[in-house]
Amino acid sequence: MKATVLYGPRDVRYEEVPEPKILKPTDVIIKLSATCVCGSDLWPYRGANAITEPMHMGHEYCGVVVEAGSGVKTVKVGQFVVGSFCISDNTCPHCNFGFQSSCEQREFMTGAQAPLARVPLADGTLVATSVMPPDDLIPSLLAASDVLGTGWYAADAARVQPGSTVAVVGDGAVGLMGVLAAKQMGAARIIAMSRHKTRQDLALEYGATDIVAARGDAGIAEIKRLTKNVGADAVLECVGTQESMSQALQSARPGATIGYVGVPHGVTFDGQQLFFAQRGLMGGPAPVRRFLPHLIDLVLARKINPGKVFDMQIPIKDVAEGYKAMDERRAIKALLRV
Ligand SMILES: [Zn+2]
Repeated sequence: MKATVLYGPRDVRYEEVPEPKILKPTDVIIKLSATCVCGSDLWPYRGANAITEPMHMGHEYCGVVVEAGSGVKTVKVGQFVVGSFCISDNTCPHCNFGFQSSCEQREFMTGAQAPLARVPLADGTLVATSVMPPDDLIPSLLAASDVLGTGWYAADAARVQPGSTVAVVGDGAVGLMGVLAAKQMGAARIIAMSRHKTRQDLALEYGATDIVAARGDAGIAEIKRLTKNVGADAVLECVGTQESMSQALQSARPGATIGYVGVPHGVTFDGQQLFFAQRGLMGGPAPVRRFLPHLIDLVLARKINPGKVFDMQIPIKDVAEGYKAMDERRAIKALLRV
């Protein structure tokens, strides 16, 4: 089969690779219904992470189980499944505590930008739907696998409550999902920081009440003005740069928590500043598995439409164009049809 392989900065190819096989009894093979390009795929694509050997890309997935290892107990061949980008057993102490993304057996999913993929620890990682979902819900179910689950975690980690005032730093796909999550959690006011018209419009559709286009000190001043000089009750940091983290910390009120889900690149903290700031930080790779059953229910009941974040849908053979469009910010997120 053909699959997506990254060779170096801006060198992504759709080329012949061996088909995935069951390697352990707890593995399954799924036939992807759709897959997509993640904002985090852009870090290696842009050369921010060293690429020592060709990387099999893709960690967001949903599809139908076509083969199951002998040790797989709950997931069945023929079922439609959604899984997390973090592989987890869902039985260890960290999984039981709701942090499946720190599972004792954690692995990160790879190789999902392909027609077929191997999913390890299938019983712990995958959630099967009770029925075969209609085609028009595939983008939203795919979103649950990472981008929605991550935006949801950002809001959960930031302790968004009914009535909260929430600030969202970052208008990428995860930031937009953070807006959607905050709305679902009952936030009264959601301030989305965005400078791009199409992203502002989607943020408003997902529940943002205010848009702040300014950045840096001007952006912080604007949030202070909107919150009567108090700051936001909860802040979602969905970028991962020093600038965005600083923006998030200074947009939060004392006692607030910043849920940060942008993978930090070059972000540092000053211990004493953090001490006197009195802001909490909770982040990391999202324990998407914790949220999946609820998110799948919301999608199947058509209460949320996270699939709208895919503003580009292309055949998987054109995957290189998907990376390029996201890199150049021509697309928010590219769905790959398989
Ligand atoms: Zn575990």
